[in-house]
Amino acid sequence: MIVLASIREPQHHRGTVFNIATGEMKGVPRLEFLIPGWKIVRDHQRGKITNDQYIYGYRDSETNQAVPGYRQILQSRWPAVSTWLKSLEAQIDLTLVCFCKEYENGKSKFCHRQYIKAVIECYRLDLEVILH
Ligand SMILES: [Zn+2]
Repeated sequence: MIVLASIREPQHHRGTVFNIATGEMKGVPRLEFLIPGWKIVRDHQRGKITNDQYIYGYRDSETNQAVPGYRQILQSRWPAVSTWLKSLEAQIDLTLVCFCKEYENGKSKFCHRQYIKAVIECYRLDLEVILH
């Protein structure tokens, strides 16, 4: 089972826990190829970009440069992502965590965990993926 959850909600964690957030977590190993860039994380936190822009990319309003979204970031690292996807085993539980809580003010919160869930489900129909 693959679980996607917040580091702050350990009641959901199963098996080995891996950090997929830009920030460090003490004692939690990082899966670098799933970690988004600081630029899109900061712009999203500041409300400069939408959820769709975070995933699909956008043009930076200050520099006029194209900024790759999370989808393009994963594509650029596809050899590592694909090797990892193939290595997953149905019997081995693991949890991918970032800092975002599942809900904020009673509403489901946007987070790259949602996109990772879709990627895993697309390539590994045999795995159970639980998103919190
Ligand atoms: Zn998150």
